Amino acid sequence: MEKLEILADAAKYDVSCSSSGSKRNNKDKGLGDSKGYGICHAFTEDGRCVSLLKILLTNHCIFDCAYCVSRKSNHVKRAAFTVEEVVDVTINFYRRNYIEGLFLSSGIFDSPDYTMERLVRIAKKLRIDHNFNGYIHLKAIPGASDELMKEAGLYADRLSVNVEMPTEQSLKLLAPEKKHIDVIKPMEYLKKEIIGYREEKSLNKKAPVFAPAGQSTQMVIGATKETDMEILGMADYFYQQMNMKRVYYSGYVPISNDGRLPMIGTPVPIIRENRLYQADWLIRFYGFKVNEIVGFDQPHLDLDIDPKLGWALRNLDQFPVDINTATLEMIKRIPGIGHQNAKKIVAARKFNRLLPEHLQKMGIAYNRAKYFLAVPHPFSIQKDFTSVQIKHQILSLQNSKYKSDFSSQLALF
Ligand code: SF4
Repeated sequence: MEKLEILADAAKYDVSCSSSGSKRNNKDKGLGDSKGYGICHAFTEDGRCVSLLKILLTNHCIFDCAYCVSRKSNHVKRAAFTVEEVVDVTINFYRRNYIEGLFLSSGIFDSPDYTMERLVRIAKKLRIDHNFNGYIHLKAIPGASDELMKEAGLYADRLSVNVEMPTEQSLKLLAPEKKHIDVIKPMEYLKKEIIGYREEKSLNKKAPVFAPAGQSTQMVIGATKETDMEILGMADYFYQQMNMKRVYYSGYVPISNDGRLPMIGTPVPIIRENRLYQADWLIRFYGFKVNEIVGFDQPHLDLDIDPKLGWALRNLDQFPVDINTATLEMIKRIPGIGHQNAKKIVAARKFNRLLPEHLQKMGIAYNRAKYFLAVPHPFSIQKDFTSVQIKHQILSLQNSKYKSDFSSQLALF
């Protein structure tokens, strides 16, 4: 029990877990089904929802990364599970319906291979000996051999190699023993294998699956001085070049008295983290390019407003938009109209010319969208306002409604 406390507590700083995207079905009357249950829930210290039994195999580590609670110079209680203990606790928790899967990370015991071999053995035992079909997310240890990475992908639903620092210089500063290339190489290897196995599967249904939920990574935000432009540029590189399923942004929790890091007591950058997730969402699902969201003239996201509203206010010449004739892509760019509602609008306008009341009935955030829509008088107000006035009006509305909880976690849009 004490081990579980230590190693679950140490794992809470890793936000790079989510069970979305896996389609592993129950078979042969086995245990669990990653598809049917979606995500179970665990919470990081600042309230973000994460899934699964989330533990470290060990918090012993040969490295001394300044931002990490498990670094070797930190005087914390240390513990390590055996392979059998992790397997037993997962099966027991699963049977009691406490969890729906496992997120397993680890400090580095002795060498990357020594640690990775144990992680793989756990996943293999769960799948083979216990016929466990629940979700498994394994942390891939940078520097581990390709053979172990390959085996890991055959048993895990998702693998993640955490880049940790947004740039190579920051990694050098805070984790001088680590090499950026040791993170990039396994990502490239996993990408190649994921694509290869997927192609094989499309030709031969009996071919094995390899990390069906893809790979993800995590970046620590606010420990070093990168701009949001650098962070989003790096994320975009991972999405484009590594076929990354998700990039997670983890606001740095000050845990160390170290001159290279923000002082203990510095607030965790929760709102910034939320804005990065919003920007990330725009890049992945709304067709935005990084340089439309941030640029050399404004390298940081506006913390007051979401990045889509920020873009619209900087590009008022593209508005007002007539939702009865505009493309789906342009409708998605209107603040207050999300992906699904944009699709509903395009479907509905085939039958009727849409008026403001129709939009309101569809449930769009009309109080926000109305500044950007070309609709009949008295609603065509966009042309009467400057971007500063629109921002002020939207913020005053937002503040009156959400003032009490504005400082904690924010909604996506
Ligand atoms: S290698 Fe990983 S566990 Fe070890 S100190 Fe660095 S970040 Fe922490």
